[in-house]
Amino acid sequence: MKLKTAIITGASTGIGKAIAQKLAKTGFRVLLIARSSGKLKQIVKEIESEGGQAEYYKVDLSNEQDIKGFLKEVENNIKAGNYSQIDALLNIAGVWHDKKQVFAGTDFEKFDDNVIKNTYAVGFTAPTLLAHGLIPFMKKACHIINISGTFENGAKGWLPYYASKKGLEELTYGLGEELKHKGICVNGISPSDTATEEYSKWFPDCIEDAIDPKEIAKLVVDIISSNKTGTIQVIKKYDYSKEDVQFVKHAIVLAKKSLKKGMFPSGALLVCNGKIISEHLATPYPKSNLHSDSKCIDEAMNILNKPLNQCTLYSSMEPCLMCLSRAYWSGLKRIVFATKKESLPYVLCYESNLNNYSLLEKFNSKIEMIHIKELESEILPLFEQWQKVML
Ligand SMILES: [Zn+2]
Repeated sequence: MKLKTAIITGASTGIGKAIAQKLAKTGFRVLLIARSSGKLKQIVKEIESEGGQAEYYKVDLSNEQDIKGFLKEVENNIKAGNYSQIDALLNIAGVWHDKKQVFAGTDFEKFDDNVIKNTYAVGFTAPTLLAHGLIPFMKKACHIINISGTFENGAKGWLPYYASKKGLEELTYGLGEELKHKGICVNGISPSDTATEEYSKWFPDCIEDAIDPKEIAKLVVDIISSNKTGTIQVIKKYDYSKEDVQFVKHAIVLAKKSLKKGMFPSGALLVCNGKIISEHLATPYPKSNLHSDSKCIDEAMNILNKPLNQCTLYSSMEPCLMCLSRAYWSGLKRIVFATKKESLPYVLCYESNLNNYSLLEKFNSKIEMIHIKELESEILPLFEQWQKVML
């Protein structure tokens, strides 16, 4: 099999290392870049021992001459026929700590000038120069992937790092647009806190809630096997917050109330900017078309008098076809629920032949459907009781 060639910066640890190992197993010769060669040598050895091909380059990405030197080496290798093109460039390296300190929590005016310059150089200028220098060696279906970050708590505390990564996202969008006609794909991945060696060193208490770098490596493989371009894909360990859990619990309370009144055990609420706009129980038979999800959507549309694209629907159960379609036409972008359709073995709850997710794929605008599995056990007994009432 002819190997493809990928260049990976920041490859000595964490996300870069995970991506290098993954790509080496999926048909790539990986060219690994980092500031020091010690760890890179070890990774090259590991990859080779598993039958992969890897080379390492000691490049200081804050140094323009180093970057030029590396680009020259790539050019020479291509001229020599060692490989014919660069199939993927992965800009991973970023500066958010040095050996002695982590820059998180630092007030902007307290940053050392050199740290700011170094952060921009490695996190923004280097990816720009690498893309600039390597595009001539890229063709249709080659990929540039830039790693940024979600910064859930905002820019405050590590503004230079934040700015370098947000700049990189803008570069991703702009370059994606510009290279469309050549068929070169440019995408970004914006991960939440990731469980790297450095992360566990500086934030040992948060490691449980951080993403496994291997998840990011998997997403890289997905992107490379697609022809999408100009996207930034957010990846988080949890796609819901503690606040989401509280609101879904509230929907479960409403479902319990419904059941107490002898009605179908469902409840829903619609929330905009943390504020409950509408909440509803089920409706007694025979008005079986008035579902709690639909009632919440209709009432919120009346109250807010605008599309619901800033709102979230919280429900005790996955919405039915009618409620999902209503959500679509209301502009809703996010639905969070306690129990999945497949977990409810009662044909009466849903039109059993239709799958929401295959429908979602066909919608013109995306609706995020989030299942909070940990709450499912609270809702299932309600359906058992309801079935007894019905029969
Ligand atoms: Zn419904």
